Amino acid sequence: MNVVRKILELTKLDGSVGFVPTMGALHEGHLSLIRESKRCCSRTVVSVFVNPLQFGPAEDLAKYPRPESKDIELAESAGADVIFIPEAAELLDSNLTTIQVSGVSDLFEGERRPGHFEGVATIVCKLFNLVRPTTAYFGLKDRQQCVVLRQMVHDLNLPFQLEFLPTIRESDGLALSSRNIYLSKFERAKAPFLYASLQETRNTLGRHSEPDEAFVAETLAQNRDVLSAEMFEVDYLDLVDEASFKPTSKVDANSILIVAAKLGTTRLIDNVSVLPV
Ligand code: AMP
Repeated sequence: MNVVRKILELTKLDGSVGFVPTMGALHEGHLSLIRESKRCCSRTVVSVFVNPLQFGPAEDLAKYPRPESKDIELAESAGADVIFIPEAAELLDSNLTTIQVSGVSDLFEGERRPGHFEGVATIVCKLFNLVRPTTAYFGLKDRQQCVVLRQMVHDLNLPFQLEFLPTIRESDGLALSSRNIYLSKFERAKAPFLYASLQETRNTLGRHSEPDEAFVAETLAQNRDVLSAEMFEVDYLDLVDEASFKPTSKVDANSILIVAAKLGTTRLIDNVSVLPV
């Protein structure tokens, strides 16, 4: 596997190129994307870049984990051909042009983390231009990010496919995340309640043939309360329409339950489709 740190050292690869952008601290969630790329494409490029543009001033940029040599080992073991680890100074040498994806980035993560999706879209677009993939792979764990990037690729006519892959979880249901290491032992024991609350909400909504607006609102409110009682500081637990990423009270194949909540100082997000798609 090739470790590339300089933009000029990125060479054009033959055949189909799968691309997996990451912020490193690789875990099984990332590796599932790399393995799928390896299965489907002749070459796989993984990038590791802790993108300063997507962190808010009060967020964890400085302490974000950066286990570089382990990442290189893991990416190689999952089948990456190239690992691109750009230096911030080179990738962000000037930052006068940014990409703003309207609508789908207005609410939820976009609202709670001003500038977050602009930072994601700008850097991911730059990485797309450098790597020139045939297919890029992302995890549904960051559902709104998938929708924002899909919109960007559509609106800018970027010439490749996007693939979104299922969330990889611990055996107790907690979605894998590089941020899980911040959880104390007590918080780690509580963390699976987040996914459990999504499942509970989904089951309650699914038991009704045609849940109306009031029933949806009441179910969401009840499950927010359950999470609060379990020590979560709930940011949102909502039902959204996948295409617009706006709240909906329609329970159908396009609706998703999304949640964000803090346990202590660690903010966790998760989501599930309400009905099988
Ligand atoms: P990150 O390093 O957190 O920016 O994530 C890089 C990519 O891995 C993104 O496409 C994420 O959605 C994806 N990812 C993160 N966690 C998981 C997970 N538990 N399951 C599947 N994909 C994930």
